[in-house]
Amino acid sequence: GLVTAGLVVVGAGQAGFQVAASLREAGFAEPITLVGDEPDLPYQRPPLSKGYLAGRTDRQGLHLRAAGYFAEHGIVHRAETRAAGIDRDGTRLLLADGGVLPYGHLVLATGARNRPLPVPGAELEGVRQLRGLSDADALKGAIEAANRIVVVGAGFIGLEFAAVAAARGLSVTVVEAAGRPMARAVSGQTSEFFRRAHEALGVRFLFEAGVSAIEGAGGRVSGVRLSNGETLPADLVLVGIGVLPNQELAAQAGLAVADGIRVDAWLATADPAVSAIGDCARFPSPFATGVTPDGTVRIESVQNAIDQGRCLAARLAGRPAPYAALPWFWSDQGRHKLQIAGLGAPADASVPRGTGDAFSVFRFRDGRLSAVESVDRAGDHMIARRLLAAGTPLTPEQAADPGFDLKALAMGRP
Ligand code: FAD
Repeated sequence: GLVTAGLVVVGAGQAGFQVAASLREAGFAEPITLVGDEPDLPYQRPPLSKGYLAGRTDRQGLHLRAAGYFAEHGIVHRAETRAAGIDRDGTRLLLADGGVLPYGHLVLATGARNRPLPVPGAELEGVRQLRGLSDADALKGAIEAANRIVVVGAGFIGLEFAAVAAARGLSVTVVEAAGRPMARAVSGQTSEFFRRAHEALGVRFLFEAGVSAIEGAGGRVSGVRLSNGETLPADLVLVGIGVLPNQELAAQAGLAVADGIRVDAWLATADPAVSAIGDCARFPSPFATGVTPDGTVRIESVQNAIDQGRCLAARLAGRPAPYAALPWFWSDQGRHKLQIAGLGAPADASVPRGTGDAFSVFRFRDGRLSAVESVDRAGDHMIARRLLAAGTPLTPEQAADPGFDLKALAMGRP
């Protein structure tokens, strides 16, 4: 529908920026205000645990657009401004500084925050997390001064950080509750490859290990106590144990939340004047059948943030379409690139293709291809995206057969 009092977006990150930019591209002429609590221009997060942390990318390289873009496109970016409440009856956003912003349509693009480590000592100096640019800046300094690093959590961010730190010759131990790295996200084959790759960099893993406390001296971290009683000495601890969606604004305004702000296939909440996109949103996906009981998911990825921003912009510009984009993701760890198309877990078959150095794992659920993990096989990833998006039938036997022409299948040339 038409927006009369303008568009207000809470969260000036990847998704919030995208909906604004795509609306201007579509010729949307109403006022747009991006409200964000961070000080910087809207920026991309992936380099924070990769090139930026390693010193290969500078600050400007992170920005989604230079400052001039916003003025030229009539997008008001209010930095360091926190939204504190939604007055749905009055269609106004309430700001923490006491200000009020009327809206015609409100977009919640508030992202997610890191899950805190629920043990004593987690507040000690030297215990850090990585979400924003300010975290990355603090970590860059902390790495310089660190000797012994413990990473809690062998997820994507923990592993990317571990690879950067190990490449600098620092002692890095990764403590993980599950039995393998990235256990929730990838197949056993891919986990095993990355375990070895990190070990080759000098990273030590402790699996099926719990953290019971962070120990300190003089307010600073000195070690990580494990559930088995052992203490790992540490002067820097990076906690990467997953995220919590920033859904409180929606919940307080009476909108449905359940590990994410609930939206329909058009990314709308139950209030037609409020939508939610990106890391904070839980939505129905055609690719989530068998992934969750109700077929809804919440996805933390650049692809999802951008595609949902575009999808919502199309609706607000008068061309509504349900969100049905194929999920895809990447992670750079050391010299290896992992690319994932589709939603792989749970899987009932995981079929490898390729060599030990560069391979893909084709994952099947209920007899259908559900996801493809590619390690240093960008070609497979592009083919997989086509196959999955089109729903092209593929059997585990075909995937396993090195003579089977996957590219021809993806291109529709049998
Ligand atoms: P965000 O980009 O997080 O933006 C949300 C913004 O809203 C934040 O600035 C937040 O401070 C602000 N906000 C929240 N509440 C309020 C409020 N009340 N008032 C005002 N502002 C508020 N994805 C990939 O696909 N590949 C990768 O390799 C990859 N690497 C990553 C590495 C790191 C270190 C991190 C942290 C994330 C990575 N991601 C990666 C995930 C990806 O960056 C996110 O999925 C994406 O940024 C989500 O976009 P978003 O707009 O939903 O949230």
